[in-house]
Formats: sequence, structure tokens, C-alpha cells
Amino acid sequence: MASPRSGAGPSPSGLRSLPSVRLLLEQAPHLRQAHGHAAVAGALRGALQAARAAIRAGAPPSGPEALIQRAAAALDQAARPVLRRAINATGIVLHTNLGRAPLGPAARAAVTEAMEGYCTLEFDVASGRRGERTQGVEPLLRRLTGAEAAVCVNNNAAAMLLALTALAAGGEVVVSRGELVEIGGGFRIPDIIGQGGARLVEVGTTNRTRLADYRAAIGPATRVLLKVHQSNFRIIGFTEAPDTAALAGLAHEHGLPLLVDLGSGVLHGLPLAAGAGEPTVGQCLAAGADLVAFSGDKLLGGPQAGIVAGDAALLAPLRRHPLMRALRLDKLSLAALEGTLRASLAPAPDLPVLRMLGEDAASVQARAARLAALLPGAELVASEAQAGGGALPALPLPSSAVALPGGEALAARLRQGTPAVVGRVQGGRLLLDLRTVDEAEVPLLAERVRAAMAP
Ligand SMILES: *Cc1c(COP(=O)(O)O)cnc(C)c1O
Repeated sequence: MASPRSGAGPSPSGLRSLPSVRLLLEQAPHLRQAHGHAAVAGALRGALQAARAAIRAGAPPSGPEALIQRAAAALDQAARPVLRRAINATGIVLHTNLGRAPLGPAARAAVTEAMEGYCTLEFDVASGRRGERTQGVEPLLRRLTGAEAAVCVNNNAAAMLLALTALAAGGEVVVSRGELVEIGGGFRIPDIIGQGGARLVEVGTTNRTRLADYRAAIGPATRVLLKVHQSNFRIIGFTEAPDTAALAGLAHEHGLPLLVDLGSGVLHGLPLAAGAGEPTVGQCLAAGADLVAFSGDKLLGGPQAGIVAGDAALLAPLRRHPLMRALRLDKLSLAALEGTLRASLAPAPDLPVLRMLGEDAASVQARAARLAALLPGAELVASEAQAGGGALPALPLPSSAVALPGGEALAARLRQGTPAVVGRVQGGRLLLDLRTVDEAEVPLLAERVRAAMAP
């Protein structure tokens, strides 16, 4: 290799030997046909620019073939969808950056059906007239939660914004200081309340709030008592908070509604260990909550959605509110939600999230061993998976991973391929956690790893 000519300026002969864009364009008719003249010219200019920089750094000049190849690679890269399939080998079941809950077969089929052509989104087939957008999901939500009615919007943040705006604008919302949570992605309960035009009245302390604290805060301007699931953190030790039933009793004594932001919408059928201590939507309503808000893509295992379930009369102002039109769900999400809820009616719902949370450690280990056997230099190691998505932070999820030499460099190659493979780098090795990898993905994952490890 030639020595870098630092300070000596560019090598004129090397730079001069590079072909022109016009010459390269003439030699690449196949690329022009596939990508169009302008895109190919741009890619060739990019390749030439890189070649010039390389020459200045001391590399020999590239020939036309190499330059065209580099441009072709850049064009292929640019043509690949940015939003593409990923294999989640992080061990985080509800990985917000990877789309949270993967959909089950019923939801996927429903989405495909709804996007084939037109669909009965707001059409009542019995009368032939306009129907309700949520006609498919509402009866299912009633059956699954015992609620009188339900309203569906884009996500739980939207559900909370809508509920607090419709019920408490101009008034006060009473909430415990121990529940002023930030969920991530900038969702903060105090901001949502403020955005809805209500005033926040904080009661109690971070670790202890008593029923008497709520009682003392209730005044003529109070519109709603709010209880928020702590979701992504736990305060342990000297803590106290009234339960839903006690809070509902107090609210009803004063003719006020109790709104519960449950975060993750557990319907039923959570695997026993995973479900320990997590109240379901139905239990929350049965304990006296008037409205319960929850996400569609956390433990419910469906698409991004926010649902407010509960008292029909209290939901009426939500339905009528102008925000409803801005926050309503689209047809594909509604189809996925209906499919997910239908699957949830089964005694053992076929939902990936529930399967991943409930699988026993030995079965995960067996899958990790199968992957390790396909990969030279791989080692089977113990791992710790997580529910993620701000759900069940204290839940231990023993798991197994395949450890590979190659660290960040290998991780980067795997991330950038198709499908993207996402693991975690630890101590210079890449760990692929198998709790979040489906059995059917193992051969493809092995193929991608082998290709990425090839010299
Ligand atoms: C996750 C969460 C939210 C936000 O839900 P999205 O569906 O992500 O908008 C709100 N409140 C609580 C308590 C949560 O856990």
C-alpha cells in the first residue's frame, strides 16, 4: 500500500485516472434501467467521491468496475425498505423500538383480509347503512372485561388524553405523588393532565399515600380521581397506597368517577408466574373503577392502540369529543385488534407475547442449544430476559442465549441485514437471547449469523 501523502496534497495522477460520471453511466445501462438515470448518476458521484477520499488517504485508484459495483451496492441499500422485519434476540419481549407485541396468527389474518380491498370499516351489513367504526371490537371488549362499553384510540397516551380532556377540562384531577410516572418516549402523567386542560392535584408522598390524603384534596373543582399503574418501576419498603376498591368507594361517596390508567392491558390468560399480582382490566372494573385505560400492544399482545373501557354514560363525552376524530384508530389496527381480541377468547390464546412470557426455561434452553449447534464458535449461556414495555419490571424471566465472538462489529452487520437481527453486546461478545426468538425463526437466524460471520 502506498504511504499516505499527508500534507503533500492530493495525488494528481491518481485522481486524474478516475473515470468521469458520463463514462461510468455509459458502462452501466443495467443500473440505469433498474433505478433511473438520476439515481444512478447520484450513486456514481458518491462512489467517485469516496474513491477520491481513498486516493488522498493513500489507496490506489479504483477502476470503473469497482466504482460501478460500489454505486450498485448503494442503490440496493437505498431501495431496501427502512421499516423491515426484525428478529428480536434481545430477550426483551415488549421491545418498543422493535414494534412491541408481535401479532398472532388471527390478527395477521385479519389485517390481510382488511387490506385486500375495501372493508366494512364503518358499514353495517344488516341495514346497509353507516355503522360504528368499533362495531367489531366493542362487543369483544365487553365480553373480555365485563365493561359496559369501550372506546378505542391510537395508543394509551391518546386514551388518557381523551379521557382527561373530556372528563376533567377546567377542573381538577387528584392523583398520588407516587404515581406521577414517566413511561418513556416523553409520556408524563402531569403533562397529559395539563394538556387536557385540567389541573393536577398531587396528594401524599412518593412512597405513601393514604385514602385520607385523597379525601382532603377533594373539592368543588374535582372532576376525576386518577390511579396510575406504576408500570416500569417499583417502590419497595415503607410504602402504602389505597387499593382500587377503597379509592372507588371514596370517589363514589363524592359522586366522582375513578379513572385507572392500567398501562398494560392484561385481559386474562397470562401465564401464572407472569401474571402474579397484575390486576386484569376486568378485576379493576369489578373492584369499582369506572373507567380503565390500557394499551393494545403491551401484555394484551395486539397492535398499537389505546382502549378506555367501563361505564357507558361516562364514555359518551369521550365519543362526542372532537379529539376522538383526531385520535381514532385506522382500519388495519382495528382489524389487528379484533383478531387479537378474538384469539383472547380462547382458554389458551395463541398470542406470541403470552407464549414468550410463559415458556419454561428448559424449553428456551433447548432452542438455544439447537441454534448453538448450527453455529461454529458459539457457546450456550444463561441469560435474563425481560417483559419490557414498562410492564412487569420485577418479573424474573430466566432465559438462554447463544454467545458469539465478534462483539459490536458482528452486531452491526446483523442489524443492517434483512431481516435485521438485534441482540445485545456484552463483554465483547454478541448474545442472542432465544426467549424472544420463535422456533420457526431459528433456521433463518442461523443463516444470517453464518453469513455475517463469514470472512
Ligand atoms: C405504557 C403506558 C402508557 C402509554 O401507553 P402507550 O400505549 O404506549 O401510549 C400510559 N400509562 C401507563 C401507566 C403505561 O404503562
